Amino acid sequence: ADHRSEKCFKRKITSKDNTLVKTQILFTDPFNFCKYYNVRHFLFGRFLLESLEDLDTSLRKLNSRLFVVRGQPTDVFPRLFKEWNVTRLTFEYDSEPYGKERDAAIIKMAQEYGVETVVRNTHTLYSPDRIIEMNNHSPPLTFKRFQAIVNRLELPRKPLPTITQEQMARCQTQISENHDERYGVPSLKELGFKTQGDRSHVWKGGETEALERLNKHLDRKAWVANFERPRITAQSLFASPTGLSPYLRFGCLSCCVFYYSLRELFMKLRRRSSPPLSLFGQLLWREFFYTAGTNNPNFDRMEGNPICVQIPWDHNPEALAKWAEGQTGFPWIDAIMTQLRQEGWIHHLARHAVACFLTRGDLWISWESGMKVFEELLLDADWSVNAGSWMWLSCSAFFQQFFHCYCPVGFGRRTDPSGDYIRRYIPKLKDYPNRYIYEPWNAPESVQKAANCIVGVDYPKPMINHAESSRLNIERMKQVYQQLSVPIHHDGLVMVPRRQRRATSLLISV
Ligand SMILES: Cc1cc2nc3c(=O)[nH]c(=O)nc-3n(C[C@H](O)[C@H](O)[C@H](O)COP(=O)(O)OP(=O)(O)OC[C@H]3O[C@@H](n4cnc5c(N)ncnc54)[C@H](O)[C@@H]3O)c2cc1C
Repeated sequence: ADHRSEKCFKRKITSKDNTLVKTQILFTDPFNFCKYYNVRHFLFGRFLLESLEDLDTSLRKLNSRLFVVRGQPTDVFPRLFKEWNVTRLTFEYDSEPYGKERDAAIIKMAQEYGVETVVRNTHTLYSPDRIIEMNNHSPPLTFKRFQAIVNRLELPRKPLPTITQEQMARCQTQISENHDERYGVPSLKELGFKTQGDRSHVWKGGETEALERLNKHLDRKAWVANFERPRITAQSLFASPTGLSPYLRFGCLSCCVFYYSLRELFMKLRRRSSPPLSLFGQLLWREFFYTAGTNNPNFDRMEGNPICVQIPWDHNPEALAKWAEGQTGFPWIDAIMTQLRQEGWIHHLARHAVACFLTRGDLWISWESGMKVFEELLLDADWSVNAGSWMWLSCSAFFQQFFHCYCPVGFGRRTDPSGDYIRRYIPKLKDYPNRYIYEPWNAPESVQKAANCIVGVDYPKPMINHAESSRLNIERMKQVYQQLSVPIHHDGLVMVPRRQRRATSLLISV
C-alpha cells in the first residue's frame, strides 16, 4: 500500500470484513463517542473498552497496533494529517442523521488538507438510500413492502477474508516506545467510570467473543434448517450465550458475516437450495428501522416527526422513575427493568412488556422517555432500532393495534410459570409461592409474612390498577385514532392526515 491511511473506527470498531486496513489504524475519540452516546453506564463503557482491547490484541498478532487518539476529531485530524503525512482516510458510512452531519464535516476538512476519503457502507446489509430510491424516494413503512424491495435487490456484498500476516507484511506500522502512553486503550477510570470488580459480567466486548457467539448461534442447526424462530421460554429471558445484538451494534460482528454464515449453513443443510428471505428476518428488521430513520432527523421524537402519531402523553416524572428503577410493584415489570440495569440486555418480548406498560398500556408516558432510558442502559442501544421499536410498541408508528395490550401479570406468568426469572432479579420475592409471585399484593398476610416480604413495606404495592388504567388508555388511544381519519392510499399504506391540532399523520399497514 503506497498510501498512508487511517482506518477511522467511529462507531464500528472492527469486523471480519474490514476492507480498508492499510498502514495505520486509528480509533478516534472514544471520549467524544461516550459523550454523544451519553455513556453514563458502566456496562457500556466496559464493553466499549473490551472491544478496543480485543482489536488491539488482534492487530498485535499482525505486527500492528491500535491507535486511540484522545480529542475532538475536528482538532485531532488536522494535526494527524500533517504529522503522519496522511493521503487517504477511510471510514464506515453512517446512515443516521447525526453521523451524516459529522462525517460531512470530516470529509470537508479532509478535502481542505488534500486527503482523499473513502466511505464504505458496512454497518447494514443494504444501502438505506438505495432502498428509498427504489421505493419512489420514500422509506418503506411496512415490513412487507420493505421485504418486497429487498427481494428485488442483488445479494449483499460478501465479507472479505480475514487479513493475514502475509498481507500485512508489506505494511509498516511505526510503533513508538511510549505507544501505550500516547495511543493506548483508555482505562475505565480515564473515561470517568468508577471501577468495580464485583459487577456482573454477562456480556464481554470484542470480536473474539462475537465470533464465538456466532458459532454457538449457528450450532442451533435445527432452527436454521427449518428457518423457524425458537419459541420464547422461561430460559430465553436470561442473557443468552448466543445473543448478538450488542456485537452488531458496536461493530464487533459484521452483519455481512452473520448473513453469509446463515446462508451458507442453510445451503449446506438444505442441499444447496437458496434460503428464503425469512431466514434473515431478524437482521432485516434492523435494516428496516435503519432505512425508516435515515432521512428523518426527528425519528427519535414525536414533534416534527412526520411518521409519528401525536399523542397527548402525561408528564409524570415520579411514575417514570418508578418504572425506570424497577419499583412499579409489578414483579414482572420490575424484574425486567432490574435485569436491564444490571446486565444491559433484555429479551425482545421483555422489551415489549415494559414498553407497553410505560406507554399506551398502563402509565400513559411518552415513548420518548422510555427510549431514553433504554438508550442509557441497553448495550445494544441503537438510535434507529430503538426509536423505531418504541414508536411501534406505543402505536405511534408502524403498528396501530392499540386494543392489544400486554398484561403485566399474565404475560410473565405464561412465559415463566415457575417465577424463577422474578426470583433471580428480585430476591426479596424469592420465597413467594408460584401462585402469588406475579401478584404478591394478593397473597394473604400469612403468606407474605412466611415469605419475609410484606407488600407495601419490603416490596412496593402496585403503582396502578392495571385493569382500570389499560381500559382508560385504550379509550384515549381510540379517541386519538378517531381524530385521524380520511384514509389516503400511499405506498401500500393508508395515510391518514390530521384533523386535530396535535395530530399530524398516521400510517397504517394494510
Ligand atoms: C422497545 C424496543 C427497543 C429495542 N431497542 C433495540 C435497540 O436499541 N437495539 C437493537 O439492536 N435492538 C433493539 N430492539 C430489538 C430486539 O429486541 C433486539 O435486537 C433483540 O432482543 C436482540 O437479541 P438477540 O441478539 O438475541 O436477537 P436475535 O433474535 O438473535 O436476532 C439477531 C439480530 O437481529 C437483530 N434484531 C432482532 N430482532 C430485531 C428487531 N425486532 N428489530 C431490529 N433488529 C432486530 C439484532 O441486531 C439481533 O442481534 C428493541 C426492541 C424493542 C421492542
